[in-house]
Amino acid sequence: MISKNDEVLLEIDGYGHSGEGIGHVDGYTLFVQGAIPGEQVRVRVVKAKKNYGYGKILSVEETSDARVEPVCPVARRCGGCELQHMSYEEQLRFKTGHVRECMERIGGVDGLLCPDGMTDSEPEMTKSSIPSEGVRMEVLSAFSCDAEPCRYRNKAQFPIGRDRSGRPVAGFYAARSHEIIPCEDCLLQDAKINRILMIIMDHVREVDKELADESMVYNEETHTGWLRHVYIRLGYATGQMMVCLVVNDRIGSDYEKKAGSRYRLTDLVTKIAREPGEKAVLLNENTKKTNVVPGEKYIQLTGLPYIEDRIGQLRFQIGPDSFYQVNPHITKKLYDKALEYAALNGRETVWDLYCGIGTISLSMARHAKQVIGVEIVPQAIGNAKENAKINQIENATFIPGAAEDVIDEAMADWGGIPLPDVVVVDPPRKGCDEKLITAIGKAAPDRIVYVSCDPATLARDIARLRPYGFELKKVCVVDQFWQTRHVETVVLLSHSI
Ligand code: SAH
Repeated sequence: MISKNDEVLLEIDGYGHSGEGIGHVDGYTLFVQGAIPGEQVRVRVVKAKKNYGYGKILSVEETSDARVEPVCPVARRCGGCELQHMSYEEQLRFKTGHVRECMERIGGVDGLLCPDGMTDSEPEMTKSSIPSEGVRMEVLSAFSCDAEPCRYRNKAQFPIGRDRSGRPVAGFYAARSHEIIPCEDCLLQDAKINRILMIIMDHVREVDKELADESMVYNEETHTGWLRHVYIRLGYATGQMMVCLVVNDRIGSDYEKKAGSRYRLTDLVTKIAREPGEKAVLLNENTKKTNVVPGEKYIQLTGLPYIEDRIGQLRFQIGPDSFYQVNPHITKKLYDKALEYAALNGRETVWDLYCGIGTISLSMARHAKQVIGVEIVPQAIGNAKENAKINQIENATFIPGAAEDVIDEAMADWGGIPLPDVVVVDPPRKGCDEKLITAIGKAAPDRIVYVSCDPATLARDIARLRPYGFELKKVCVVDQFWQTRHVETVVLLSHSI
C-alpha cells in the first residue's frame, strides 16, 4: 500500500498525457513529472489516491540518454514548458506516441504506423500488434523549418505581480497555481517580445518607486492596483507589434491624460513606440475578479486597432481578441498540409469551421470554387472579411456564430449554405460539439480535414464520425509547441469506399 510521503524506487515504463513519466509499484501507478521511460528514479509520493498517485523526483538513479539539462533556469518551476528535460527527438517521440495512443484507445483506430525513421521505443504506448497496411503517421517538426525552433512564439501574456521583496515582476504562473514565477526573458518568445516587456517593466519599477502607495501593480488577493497583464503579439513577417496593457481601472477616451498620468502612461507609450516596427498600443479594461485576461473594452493609445502579418503570399489583419497561430515558423507548413489533405481541384465548396480570421479559408479559396468560414468571435469575423478584401479574394464568405448552431440550422433549413465537398474543422481543445458532428454527418462531404490542438478530443471526434462512414486516411503530427506538452495534429478523414 502506497501512502503520501513514502519514498519509492521506481522504474519508469511509459508516458502520461502531459509527458510525465509513469511507473508501477505492485500494480499501483505513479505519475512523475520530469521522468523519462527507461529511467530509475527515487521519488517521494506527494499525493496518493486509491489506484494511482503522484511522485516528486528526489534523485535520478539511472539516467536515460534522452535526458538533457533544461535550457531555461525556471523550467522546473514555471508551468509553461513541461518537456525541457527531454532531447528534441524524445519530445517528438512522446508526442507522436501520444497521438497514436489517443487514436488507438479513444478513436478506435487500428494499425497506425510510426513515422518514418522513428522506432517503436515508447514502451507503454504501443500495445497492439500492427498490421502491415496501416496509415503511416507523418511528422512536421520545428527542425523542418528554416529557423531554429527556439524563441518561436509570436504571442505572450505575462501576469504582473510582485516578488517576495515587493518588487514589481512579470512572469508566468507556476503549474496549477497563481503564483507568478518571475521570468522576463522567456526562451520561447521572440526576442522582440521580451524587449518590449523589459521596457514596460523598467517603467513600472521606476514609477512604482515614486508612488507612495501600492497602486502600480495589481494584487490578485486584494483586487487592488493597476497593471494586471501585459499582452504582446508580433507579426513575425511584418515586424508589427501589438502591445496591450490590461488594467484594473475604468478607461475612457481621456484616460491617458487624466487617470493614466499617475502611471506616466504617455511616457510609457512613447518608449514603446520608439522601438523598431509599427506598433498598436492598446489599453484594456478588466476590473473584474476573474482569471480571464482581457476584458471587453479597449482604447487605442497609438497605432491601429489591429496589426498585420503575412503567411506566404497572403496578408492578414489581426485584432486583439482574434485567434492567430502562435508559431510563425511552422504555420504555413501546417496550412499547406491541410491544403494537401483537402486535395482541391478548383470545383469544391469548402466549409472552414472555427475559421478565426480566415487564414485557412483564404489559403484554400484560390484552389476551390468557394469557401464558407464560420467563427464565434465577431471581431475575428470582421478581420476575416477585411482579409478577403485586402487579398482580393471574392469567393470566401464569413458567417458569425457557433459552428454547431450555424451548421445545424443550415442542415435543418435548406437554402442558405451550399453543401460542402470538403469540411475543414479547427476547433479549440474541447473539440467539436456533438451537434456539429451530427450536422457534418448529414452534410456528407467527401473529405474532412481536422486540424486539432488536442489529440484526445480529436480521437473522440474521429470515433463519433465513424458511423457516418468516415475513416482515418492520413495523420500528420505538427510540432508547433516545442518544449511544451502541446501537440497539433492534422488528419484526413474520408469514406472507406
Ligand atoms: N483556423 C483558425 C482558428 C483556429 S482556433 C486559425 O488557424 O487561425 C479555433 C477558433 O475557433 C478560434 O478562433 C475560436 O474563437 C473559434 N471558436 C471557438 N468555439 C467556436 C464555436 N463553437 N464555433 C465557431 N468557432 C468557435
